[in-house]
Amino acid sequence: MATEYDIIILGGGPAGLTAGLYAARSRMKVVLLEKLAPGGQVAITDFVENYPGFVPGVQGLDLSQKMEEHARAFGVEVAYSEVYGIRTENHHHIIESSDGEYIGKTVIIATGATPKKLGVPGEAEFIGRGVSYCATCDGAFYKDKKVVVVGGGDSAIDEAIYLTRFASKVTIVHRRDQLRAIKVLQERAFANPKIEFCWNSVIDRIEGQPVVQQVHARDIKTGEIHVIPADGIFVYIGLVPNTSFVPEGIEMEWGYVVTNEEMETGIPGIYAAGDVRKKTFRQIVTAAADGAIAAHTAEKYIESNF
Ligand code: NAP
Repeated sequence: MATEYDIIILGGGPAGLTAGLYAARSRMKVVLLEKLAPGGQVAITDFVENYPGFVPGVQGLDLSQKMEEHARAFGVEVAYSEVYGIRTENHHHIIESSDGEYIGKTVIIATGATPKKLGVPGEAEFIGRGVSYCATCDGAFYKDKKVVVVGGGDSAIDEAIYLTRFASKVTIVHRRDQLRAIKVLQERAFANPKIEFCWNSVIDRIEGQPVVQQVHARDIKTGEIHVIPADGIFVYIGLVPNTSFVPEGIEMEWGYVVTNEEMETGIPGIYAAGDVRKKTFRQIVTAAADGAIAAHTAEKYIESNF
């Protein structure tokens, strides 16, 4: 017979770890299921400058390790397991996972989102041989080399700036002629002599043998193809929410879980928090806040129903 938990948290990013911290500190019995290593996207972010209390900033990996340590210190159990489904029986939720079933009075979905792919020829073929979604993980391989960064959001610009520590040249390929990233990042990128921009362009193909050597950027206004010599290409074009296991009965929009302000979904006892949730501002601090609210709502639900 599987152990029964008060709260089962799916995902170990800032939302899940904060939910765990709050729930365990309220003496709930909590398990957090994580596919690989806790930390989520923060763990693969180079430097975080906007999480309050860390001046001038903190390495993403450090911050995620501190969050995990904090949650564990209050008694959160962490299990390495991939979630396949959730079913509800007798007011309990059963998590079907790669290491069997977990039974909980409540569940907090905090599985976040993963990087979107370009879907162009050469992308899948060259993953690990020049195509990357993580500058922190792979940037150091590009010392004195040329790289391309795709995207115009915070992630693309942040990571392009980071890559200038290693690369001799970073070309940002963006599909419009204006960046989406916040102004402070834009100013830094425009002032960086190693960064060049290829505006109004999308990537059509990635080529090389046996590793990436060049990318084809197509000007969407003129149709002209620019062949950009590059040893690596870093793709930052947004995120896809990790929700394949979410059961029917939970409203979704564009793949994201819809909740109210208390983080409640359409199924009593199931909550969602962080980037997996439909929301307008996906930040570490907003994910952590969602996690705290979800834990609080779950606790109130348990008090009233069990
Ligand atoms: P994002 O803000 O959604 O930006 C995605 C970028 O990729 C946009 O510039 C978009 O172009 C472009 N794009 C989307 N699909 C594309 C395609 N198929 N081909 C080419 N370009 C494409 O995603 P993000 O930068 O990953 O950020 C996600 C969230 O995390 C945001 O809320 C962001 O603020 C937050 N974030 C915060 C920090 C920080 O606080 N330091 C760091 C990283 C991320 P358009 O502009 O034309 O739509």
